[in-house]
Amino acid sequence: MVSFDAQAILARLAALRSADAPTHGGRVLSYVYDSGVPAIDELATEAMRLVQPVNGLDPTTFTSVAVMEREVVGFARELLHGGDDVVGSVTSGGTESCLLAVKTARDAWRAEAAARGEAEAVRPRILAPITVHAAFHKAAEYFDLELDLVPVDPATGRLDPERLVERLGSDVALTVVSAPSYPFGTLDPVEEVAAACEEAGVALHVDGCIGGWILPLWRADDGGALPAWDFRVPGVTSVSADLHKYGYAPKGASVLLQRGRDRQRRQYFATTGWPGYPVVNPTLLGSKSAGSLAASWAIVQALGARGFAELAESCRRSTRALADLVADIEGLRVLGAPTGPLLAIASDDAVPPERRVDPHHWADRVRRRGWHLQLQPGLAQPDGTRLPHTTHLTVTPVTGSRLDELEAALRASADEARGVPPVDAEAVLAQLPGAASLPPAGLDSDTAAELLGALGLAGRDGDGGLPPEQAPLLALIEALPRPVTERLLIELLARIVEPR
Ligand SMILES: *Cc1c(COP(=O)(O)O)cnc(C)c1O
Repeated sequence: MVSFDAQAILARLAALRSADAPTHGGRVLSYVYDSGVPAIDELATEAMRLVQPVNGLDPTTFTSVAVMEREVVGFARELLHGGDDVVGSVTSGGTESCLLAVKTARDAWRAEAAARGEAEAVRPRILAPITVHAAFHKAAEYFDLELDLVPVDPATGRLDPERLVERLGSDVALTVVSAPSYPFGTLDPVEEVAAACEEAGVALHVDGCIGGWILPLWRADDGGALPAWDFRVPGVTSVSADLHKYGYAPKGASVLLQRGRDRQRRQYFATTGWPGYPVVNPTLLGSKSAGSLAASWAIVQALGARGFAELAESCRRSTRALADLVADIEGLRVLGAPTGPLLAIASDDAVPPERRVDPHHWADRVRRRGWHLQLQPGLAQPDGTRLPHTTHLTVTPVTGSRLDELEAALRASADEARGVPPVDAEAVLAQLPGAASLPPAGLDSDTAAELLGALGLAGRDGDGGLPPEQAPLLALIEALPRPVTERLLIELLARIVEPR
């Protein structure tokens, strides 16, 4: 029998964990969704422990998996106003839900194109506003579709539905809109887009990954209801909603709902063409944990619609308070008119440059005070306009308990950063002679690592953390040609996990 020192092993893990950004208490305004209710976390932990050895691959052998999934999907369907033709799956997260929505749509499109006798020659398109989540870039790459991105209004982040609708065509396998979009928190014009998609016979996915478990319970600022964006809208063929965001579940759970059994069955993979057990997978994984499903199921039982509504209301109040605060800080502004618990903060161009606050310098200073905001780079759109660089806040129920402290940090940091000009990307590039002409295709691993070293970003000695000042890094991301940046970022992340 092997013997081991469990205490020592766990002590080392605890030490490693203590270097992580804090997952509870509201100091990290991205990545983590703290309900602020410890009993919810304890319930989730216990549920995960109970199913720890289960293989979620086979709900006929482990029947608890079938019951939990059925009940979670049923709850989500009611929340999102689906009828009994709406069916679904629990997936491992938002990305998997989005990938599967695209795979389903591509296969349905192929079948229809073949029936029309059109098939082969055309590469199908995903049509979406540029604010659509990067998971759809990934899906396009994995499943070989064209990604056709429609510019949004750079001042507000809003999609003019006409600009998308005019690009519909028989080669579009899937249109995607968001409820709301991650970068700017904008609720896309779902009804307008859905009407046009339905008329054109094009499938429409509503990406409710971040909003799916909170927008159904969200009141508009005037106290009224939001425009319909879920299965109430004819023409919506699928909706994704992440349990591990505003479902407050541990990471590894999302729901993908699809309208129409025949459509949804295209999501599945099945084969009896090998000598092993017959394989039937609704999702990308084979063997899988039942842990996050069990945790999600338990949380849904515990909170119910009333519990989710209470937590949503807390998020709404905090988001309102933070938006009002930003409006009151000279030099910053909230981008557009977000719907839901997300805010993107930009520099206020209406004041003279010496009174402006660069949102990235601001975020770096807020971080020195112990709060983690998320920096988002500026982006050139296909029509030549430019989306400004912003700082992103994800508000959760726990935010309300720390609002005064957070507000003080946001104000003091703005006072420090006011008038400091944005990082000059050209100056950053000058550190890297010839960077703009780098051949990304020919950039091998060691050359990429050398470049990272020249930029002070080689992770060899550290444990993978980024430098405390992120504004220069973001400026670099904006300034370098995209393929070069992407290659360098891959190198940065890959080297972090290389054995030492
Ligand atoms: C988070 C998110 C996703 C991707 O989800 P992951 O859970 O990170 O894989 C997709 N769309 C939107 C709008 C999101 O906010």
